[in-house]
Amino acid sequence: MKLNFFTTTRFLWRYMRDKKLQYVLFYIGWLFQTVVEVITPIIFGIMINRIVYYNDLATFLKVGLVFFYVTVFGIILYYMIYEMYGYLWNGINRGLRMEMFGQLQRLSAAEMVSLQQGDTVNMIQYWSMTAVNFVIRNIVHNANNIFRIILCIVIIFRINPVFGAVSVVMVPLSVFTAFRIGSRIRKNSEKNKEKYAKYISWLFEVISSLGELRFWSAEKTILKRYHDKLDEMNQLNSKIAMQNTAGTELLENIKNGILVIQYVLLACYAVYGGLMVGTVTVMLTYFTMLSSALSGFAKNTMDAQERISIIERMYAFLCKETTDGKDGQYELKERITEISFQNCSFWYGSEQPVVLDSLDFSIRQGEKVAVVGSSGSGKSTLLNLVLGLYPPQEGSILLNGRDLAQYSRVSLYDHISVVFQQVLLLKGTIRENLFMGSDGIPEEELVRACKAAGVYDYIQSQEHGFDTVIEQWGRNLSGGQRQRLGIARAYLRASDLIIMDEATASLDRKNEELILENQNEILQGRTCLVVSHRLRTVMQCDRVLLLKDGRIQGMGTPEEMKERCPEFRELFAL
Ligand code: ADP
Ligand code: MG
Repeated sequence: MKLNFFTTTRFLWRYMRDKKLQYVLFYIGWLFQTVVEVITPIIFGIMINRIVYYNDLATFLKVGLVFFYVTVFGIILYYMIYEMYGYLWNGINRGLRMEMFGQLQRLSAAEMVSLQQGDTVNMIQYWSMTAVNFVIRNIVHNANNIFRIILCIVIIFRINPVFGAVSVVMVPLSVFTAFRIGSRIRKNSEKNKEKYAKYISWLFEVISSLGELRFWSAEKTILKRYHDKLDEMNQLNSKIAMQNTAGTELLENIKNGILVIQYVLLACYAVYGGLMVGTVTVMLTYFTMLSSALSGFAKNTMDAQERISIIERMYAFLCKETTDGKDGQYELKERITEISFQNCSFWYGSEQPVVLDSLDFSIRQGEKVAVVGSSGSGKSTLLNLVLGLYPPQEGSILLNGRDLAQYSRVSLYDHISVVFQQVLLLKGTIRENLFMGSDGIPEEELVRACKAAGVYDYIQSQEHGFDTVIEQWGRNLSGGQRQRLGIARAYLRASDLIIMDEATASLDRKNEELILENQNEILQGRTCLVVSHRLRTVMQCDRVLLLKDGRIQGMGTPEEMKERCPEFRELFAL
């Protein structure tokens, strides 16, 4: 999973592939700029020598004209190069963002549970830019820098081999220093990014629970935590900054030392070797150019390490386990007629205890089955398994006689509605939230479902009816209103199987009764799997499955359970 310069480049290449030709052309433009920049001093040198020593105005003007054309051409090229930025932004930034966002939708259930939300938001929105900077600064600019360094040295050698030899010494010194410091920066940067991810996720968590935190009088503790976290990060940050500065300083000193030697040498040559003024100027310019190209190279090399550590995190995110490849091929077209657990056992991870132990039962079409049991007995886990979020480690789940794993998720979910205790509501109108995924539903069906879910009166009482705006997470609604909307939405979907996990937990008795009254009609022919702690709801089901510590403790009609199952009586205080 560790990325280096080359693997990072290869990773980013996938977002650049489709504009290959443009990039090559622009790069040639850039290269031309570099060449112009490097040969300009020679032209100047020739011009100066021509005028000072030969009084040759004609050549002076001719060379000057060439220089003029080259400059104009360079300016035009420069604008073209600018377009490359656009392509890079679109290609890499958008590409990476889209891919990370897509990855997010496909994460495996286990990864979804452990996702650091704040960090993920940050990564998608903010860190994707690092990749563009890496390409521009660390690939393009560095390639140009290397090219510049080579050209400078060659030219200096051509003019005077002694100077060439002195200049060459600068290269390994700078490169070595840059790599040494770079790898240290990398290590700290990785630690830093890890800390930062935790920090930002924590911040996200705090912000999402501001209201309730206040009631816990947690302000002081939270502020203290924030203070500590900031401190911790500052320490690492300043360590990196110091290493960066130390590295840059060291490089500057090496560079200056060599420059001094070069100047002294140059002075000696000028006095005793009769170097021409133009040549002296040219040499001076190349010395400076070489040393600035070298420090540019070194600085980029150090920065690259920090960028790579960021890109590595995005890469790691894209390598997280998804549902890809685990999706079945079989498209579920027929109705769900039977769900059958065959000796199923499940646990969340290798180190974790067994949550469901050898479950063996089946549900037929149209049946309403209540899953009951004390908290932590595995009810929600059972539903997760039916939804195919996790595969059972032992035994199998058959749907219409076929292993659940063989079905394509999308086709499976087309047949299922879910209502969880926390109803998913996004910012938007009630109508949009009721549609959720479907394109359009006739008004009379909307009304029918909302009536059956006991939420129609509430919607009617709102000024804008179905177009009333719901805030994020349904914050402007009561828990009961949210649940009733969730139930209405489940009714609206043309599903064969409805899964409800404590979906009526926040409802008052009147509303629960209203829903139960209408249930038979609206759920006719549909299979229901209901987790509930409410006796009324449970009693109206066809069958009850009682879980205790992940095992089936009893199963039967509600009446039977009431009579025969002591755990059932205990659970509902009968
Ligand atoms: P119930 O819905 O009956 O209250 P759950 O099915 O949610 O119970 O949980 C059953 C057990 O599995 C609990 O002990 C719980 O701690 C554990 N558990 C639930 N979800 C996870 C998870 N994502 N990772 C690890 N353990 C989990
Ligand atoms: Mg539960």
